[in-house]
Amino acid sequence: MTRVEPDVKFIKDLLKMGGASLKKCFQCATCSVVCPLSPDDDPFPRKEMIWAQWGLKDRLLKDPDIWLCHQCNDCSISCPRGAKPGEVLNAVRNYVFYEFSTPKFIGKLFTSPMYLPVVLAIPLILIFAVLQIPGVLKNPDMEHVIFGTFINDLAIEIAGLTVGAYVIIVALISFYKYWKAIGMSQDLVFEVERGVEGKTVQKIGGFLTEFWQALLEIIKHSRFRECTQNNYRYWAHLGVFYGFILLAISTAGATIYMHGLGIHELALPIYDPVKLLGNLGFLLVFVGLSWILYARLSRSDVAGSPSYQDWFFITDLYLVVITGILMEASRFAGAASIAYPLYLAHLYFVFMLIAYAPYSKFAHLMYRGLAYVWAKKTGRMPEPPQQVQSVQRET
Ligand code: SF4
Ligand code: SF4
Repeated sequence: MTRVEPDVKFIKDLLKMGGASLKKCFQCATCSVVCPLSPDDDPFPRKEMIWAQWGLKDRLLKDPDIWLCHQCNDCSISCPRGAKPGEVLNAVRNYVFYEFSTPKFIGKLFTSPMYLPVVLAIPLILIFAVLQIPGVLKNPDMEHVIFGTFINDLAIEIAGLTVGAYVIIVALISFYKYWKAIGMSQDLVFEVERGVEGKTVQKIGGFLTEFWQALLEIIKHSRFRECTQNNYRYWAHLGVFYGFILLAISTAGATIYMHGLGIHELALPIYDPVKLLGNLGFLLVFVGLSWILYARLSRSDVAGSPSYQDWFFITDLYLVVITGILMEASRFAGAASIAYPLYLAHLYFVFMLIAYAPYSKFAHLMYRGLAYVWAKKTGRMPEPPQQVQSVQRET
């Protein structure tokens, strides 16, 4: 006999975190039938809807299926009750960021817009404190815009490395907690849902093989392709994803320039390969984000409404890109009085993006990656259609 212990607070939190419609579900299972990403065996999101209604927090948070959903919203459009299962699963994912966060009080700050002033104030205070250190803030060159004459480059590098080290440590702790949780939950889910006692999860290969397969899946974005109602998400997400990669490569190139050749990246001409890559990255992220925002705002009935966590991440990323572009434009225009404040604003938004990565929507990349590995390991993630077809043709 299974004893159900509802967590009422969890239900209330989900309602606030984007799952406001979850109580409308009457378990018809249309959503599981129409979902293009759900496996035939033990499909989602119907079962997650009842778990959410019953407040089965433990089971829901340890259910890697919530990460196999890409919020294409096919299910929400077909739901006869308007229960919006796509948004409910998004709310559960938002809760995962909080539940596994380290330290948890920082994760808590992202559970409600009520804490936004604190979220905005922390980096502001930290940056202000660093700027008070003698030698960090300089008298900038107002004739030529050279950012290194405004804020000491070394101070930015030390701050960046410190924040980076912090993020890596807390992210690894959070992800390890999650990995352990989904590992322990597998038997429970399989046993209770399928009624098969002691069923052993089929192991398909070693961890590295599954990790590699999961990585390929992420690189190709093949699961996004299967969305029918919101297929724009494939291109928009692809743009943001590869834009980010280009920005990372460009940052690595800039570091080599600075330490190997003694050239400041922000003083490079526009045709330099590092600059070209960086600008292409900015453009891809900007176009991808704008597309997502436009779809979400102009047809929220089809594309779904963003949660507070979505808004926070999208807005911060947008501000990083916009201040970055304007900063560069004002440098080329020689507008020093605009360029330097923009540089400071850009650092603030970048700081927020990186320092809050393990607690914000940014962390979805890692949680989804781990869930992909789990799904590959258990055979839960079917092969993409084109691969299945080619196998059929050969046989
Ligand atoms: S979420 Fe909607 S489609 Fe899915 S089971 Fe509930 S009522 Fe049916
Ligand atoms: S949002 Fe899309 S992927 Fe997620 S459960 Fe619904 S139909 Fe499936």
